[in-house]
Amino acid sequence: MRTIVEHCAVIATMDDAGTEIADGSIVIEDGVITWVGAGPPPATGEPDERVDGRGAVALPGLVNTHHHLCQTLTKAWAQEGDIFSWLQELYPVWCGIDAEWVRAAASAGLAQLLLSGCTMSTDHHYAFPAGSAGLIEAEIEAAAALGIRFHPNRGSMDLGTHNGGLPPRELCEDRDHVLAETEALASKYHDPGPGSLLRIAVGPCYPLTNTPELMRESAELARRHGLLLHTHLAEGRDEESFMLEKFGLRPLDLLDSYGFLGDDAWLAHCVQLSDADIGLLARTNTGVATCPSSNLRLGSGIAPVRTMLDRGVRVGLGVDGAASNDSGNLMAEARQLLLTQRAGGVDRALTAREALRVATRGGAEVLGRGAELGSLEAGKRGDVALFSMETLEMAGAEADPVAGLLFGGSQRATDVLVEGRPVVRNGALVKVDEGAIVREARRIGTRLARAD
Ligand SMILES: [Zn+2]
Repeated sequence: MRTIVEHCAVIATMDDAGTEIADGSIVIEDGVITWVGAGPPPATGEPDERVDGRGAVALPGLVNTHHHLCQTLTKAWAQEGDIFSWLQELYPVWCGIDAEWVRAAASAGLAQLLLSGCTMSTDHHYAFPAGSAGLIEAEIEAAAALGIRFHPNRGSMDLGTHNGGLPPRELCEDRDHVLAETEALASKYHDPGPGSLLRIAVGPCYPLTNTPELMRESAELARRHGLLLHTHLAEGRDEESFMLEKFGLRPLDLLDSYGFLGDDAWLAHCVQLSDADIGLLARTNTGVATCPSSNLRLGSGIAPVRTMLDRGVRVGLGVDGAASNDSGNLMAEARQLLLTQRAGGVDRALTAREALRVATRGGAEVLGRGAELGSLEAGKRGDVALFSMETLEMAGAEADPVAGLLFGGSQRATDVLVEGRPVVRNGALVKVDEGAIVREARRIGTRLARAD
């Protein structure tokens, strides 16, 4: 299959040199970019798909490195809480999660991501109420139906109020069951091959919701099977004192003691870090998913992204769950990253291009796909997002349309390709009806709101 994206106003390739190409075109053959350059593409006959890029900025597909898709049905709950009180208010609601809920929530959350130019997302699903089944399978089906590249985590919790942790017992699982299910999911679904659309990761939720045994054994399982490893860390302001009291170690040192850090691991948030912590992340090449909107919503603070990048830490962008974002638009999140890093002054902030790089190439590197994704270069996979300049947001940003995407607040992609296949066309989903997704999400969301 051959796809041609032609005559983009500008292509921001995100290659090592930061090349930007005016009047740029891209040729994608069987999922792989074979040519990127200025002007019309080389004559190779009529393509199977032709995308008109005139008046649009082309970016590599954005990559979302942290989410809890199930929370898409619990927006605007627990509005005044910090991370710990927010969790306590929402845990009882999440005790009702089932496959129908997850399918509807994942469809809505992943559709919003796709429409914001995101072509690859992870999900960190850790709430498995007793008796629930088929939850990860439901979100895998939703992702496949939409056409997005998907890296779900098999999450877990086994440290509840009954044994000294945070969540209710109904959301805690047996350790052996978690490990067996994770292995079963990986053997059924994980595709390590080139151009993979589906990879499974291992995601114990958090050191205050998981026993040291499950944290350690999750890391061992991930490495035994060549899977990536994910958890939350250094988010709320009270986390350090809780972990010192319970385990006698600061958060990152605790995780290090579990053998968790490494170039196959990435951590959500990393807001509350010491200088030594940043050094440890860099030394171990551990990745970070920064989630600026969620960190503001819960009053956690602003992650030191500028410093982490300067010291060589791999950083990707995440929207986080929609109970704390409470949106899931990755382009809007890139703008949030740009602006939050300026809270301490503009002299050591990110540029718009640096924020876009974190949202594209940074994310691809954090999810272990840096060799294949994250930039528009010959040999990489054909994941592309186009944003029209002919919109109210972009009108007037002609001086620098690439930076204008963030400064102007462009939020909806006009065309999105995954493996060279259109999944968004003219601002609409290609494979699934957006209205049907909204109706189903609202049907269950209404039931949850009434049950409260
Ligand atoms: Zn999270």
